[in-house]
Amino acid sequence: MEGNIYDVAIIGAGPAGASLAYFLSGFNLKVALIEKKKYADTPVRCAELVPKAITQLYGDKIDGINNEVSQMETYIEGSLANIIKSPGFILDRNIFVDFLIKSFLKKGGTYLNSSTFLNALHLDNSRQKHKSDLSVKLAENSSRKFLSANILNGISIKVKQKDKIINLKTKILVGADGPNSAVAKIMNSFSDTDNKVQKKIPSGSCYIAGFQENLTKETNYENNTKIFFYPHLTCGYGWLFPKKSSINIGVAISMEAVKRDGLKNTYQRFKNELIKNNAISGNEKQNGVISGLVPVSGISPEVVKDNVMLIGDAAGLCNPITGAGNFNAAVSAKIASEYIKKALSSSSLNVLKEADKEINNFFNVSLSHGRSKRKMLEANWTTNDFEGLIKKTWISFRDYWHER
Ligand SMILES: Cc1cc2nc3c(=O)[nH]c(=O)nc-3n(C[C@H](O)[C@H](O)[C@H](O)COP(=O)(O)OP(=O)(O)OC[C@H]3O[C@@H](n4cnc5c(N)ncnc54)[C@H](O)[C@@H]3O)c2cc1C
Repeated sequence: MEGNIYDVAIIGAGPAGASLAYFLSGFNLKVALIEKKKYADTPVRCAELVPKAITQLYGDKIDGINNEVSQMETYIEGSLANIIKSPGFILDRNIFVDFLIKSFLKKGGTYLNSSTFLNALHLDNSRQKHKSDLSVKLAENSSRKFLSANILNGISIKVKQKDKIINLKTKILVGADGPNSAVAKIMNSFSDTDNKVQKKIPSGSCYIAGFQENLTKETNYENNTKIFFYPHLTCGYGWLFPKKSSINIGVAISMEAVKRDGLKNTYQRFKNELIKNNAISGNEKQNGVISGLVPVSGISPEVVKDNVMLIGDAAGLCNPITGAGNFNAAVSAKIASEYIKKALSSSSLNVLKEADKEINNFFNVSLSHGRSKRKMLEANWTTNDFEGLIKKTWISFRDYWHER
């Protein structure tokens, strides 16, 4: 047990968790990064577009940049509706995540792969001897299962590694375990304010579902990203993102549409449109297929609770309209790393609460705006003025930004 005591345990080695591990390394902290997959971020469930600004978050030159893109083209029912400047990179995201993990390992971090986080228990101090400690008295007098005043109480977590159960103790637990986060569920189950939290969850859909093929590039595409809207891509869109020698083509649609029309069928219908419009030939070789969920309900009601925090998709930081979450995952990891370092050096949980405020300050306006645009999209998808609706609800049009 002694060897298994950490300052920080991070669940999930996607872009959020691997970034946090990277940002915390080199500060003499004992950090464990716990990932259920054998190979982190493989397969990559993502179209891999990131804004160029992402590189500024990392001190070093990052690995995993595959291609540079400069503009975004938006098509509505097959016609080009506009082109905007949109400088970005298409990553090989598994290489990027691998680079972050390797940097973390080089600086002494602990990485447990093939290791699934199962459960967490706040250590019950009422059974320990510090009876005079204020935090213990508070805990005994309240119905809360979480203790709130003493960070050093720690959390005990259970991890399944192949057939073995490992018990770890950590001062701070971070859920970077993506959409449908197990840490978020446990965090809410620890809460005595469950009902209030539930009420704060916005109405409307919580996820959209994506399906994507990576195809070998046949012709020399311009280095622009292409976004496609069709009525059959219900409450979502299609994309074509060019890598150096391949292309990511995919769709994301509402969960209702997945049940009604099928995700793969919808993708095939979209691909046929691309072939019809000569965007692709249809003879490209398939290198891989992925599907995945994108959280679109916006920022979670609580991203910090006592010594548990959420970052990335686990905290609902994907843009509810675009589904973009890589940059937000990295930014939330950066903010979390700063407050975790401060909280550990002062042994004060109140410092972590500040991270909740800062994450909200940083993301709330843009994600709430995206959320209200998603509501508009969902309420009006079958409108006769499809073009008008897209122009009000997609980020490349002025009305997205100006009209509420
Ligand atoms: C089809 C699709 C296309 C997308 N395209 C883009 C795009 O082009 N640009 C963009 O910015 N965003 C895109 N996104 C969103 C983006 O992929 C996510 O926002 C991003 O992956 C969030 O990173 P994360 O680290 O928070 O979560 P994830 O990437 O989901 O990482 C979570 C990690 O936690 C691990 N994990 C989960 N549960 C456990 C457990 N119990 N124990 C241990 N480990 C666990 C998982 O295996 C995973 O490695 C797309 C999403 C989808 C589905």
